[in-house]
Amino acid sequence: MSNKKTFLVTGGAGFIGSYLCERLIREDKKVICLDNLITGHMENVKRLKSFKDFKFIKHDISRPVILKERIDYILHFASPASPIDYLNFPIQTLKVGSLGTHNALGIAKAKKAKFLLASTSETYGDPKEHPQKETYWGHVNTIGPRGVYDEAKRFAEAITMAYHRYHKLDTRIIRIFNTYGPRMRMQDGRVIPNFITQALRGKPITVYGRGTQTRSFCFVDDLVEAILRLVEVDFHEPVNLGNPNEMTVLSLAKLIISLSKSKSKIIYNDLPIDDPKQRQPDISRAKKLLKWTPKVALESGLLTTITWFRENI
Ligand code: UDP
Repeated sequence: MSNKKTFLVTGGAGFIGSYLCERLIREDKKVICLDNLITGHMENVKRLKSFKDFKFIKHDISRPVILKERIDYILHFASPASPIDYLNFPIQTLKVGSLGTHNALGIAKAKKAKFLLASTSETYGDPKEHPQKETYWGHVNTIGPRGVYDEAKRFAEAITMAYHRYHKLDTRIIRIFNTYGPRMRMQDGRVIPNFITQALRGKPITVYGRGTQTRSFCFVDDLVEAILRLVEVDFHEPVNLGNPNEMTVLSLAKLIISLSKSKSKIIYNDLPIDDPKQRQPDISRAKKLLKWTPKVALESGLLTTITWFRENI
């Protein structure tokens, strides 16, 4: 029998999930990738299908599933994750954060597996504290359009801690801030794929509001590195993961126009409801615990992403 550790990655055919699957296969682990493909794509994991240690299961984790395999780690990443996606799939978003997390925790308990929950900076809502530390409880509109994602993830954190405290499950919670890189969907609706696609097509760049709202963008490789380090660290409270390099959406638009040598003009559209005005992670906890800091500068990460979009547009 093989001694290789087996990872179950829910949402493994999604943007971040597929990078995790790839990295784990490269590190000689076994990977079970589970995805219902509502926002994930087989294309993201097609390179992995020829590896004998990679197995794909098309399944919605919001419904129970019995897996025969030994499982050592569960990385629970299944969820729509873009504002457009959770507007299109509000019930699925609520179900995967609640029922899906419950099912994934049930598998972890049955298999005595370590469990890592992919939570989000959205648990802070439109934050009143800046930058956001893990100790901040957040400012979320429960009934707004983003509430389906924010509250599902807040529930997911609560049930993960309950399984940790009551069932002594070995759990981790990460709060992921805006992450980008190749493989994001063109129709994803998030700001970086939108701006790059518009810039490459010479279409207007759609800045929402006046573009004064801020975000802090992390390249996907930096995020994956931090996730795999945290899995091996004995720490159960939430850990912010992201890049604290904060900027306005308008300056991001200008940077993407310049890096892609585009002639696109900027236009201003309505600001979506409850769009957070500012967002920057305080990553002191991650730095200390993981001896990690994001390495990829925004310009370099954007150039890599622009090249990928140019080839795949
Ligand atoms: N945004 C924008 N134009 C777009 C898409 C997004 O100005 O075409 C803004 C959006 O209003 C938000 C920020 O960019 O302030 C980041 O949006 P995204 O959807 O990427 O994720 P969020 O951080 O809001 O979850």
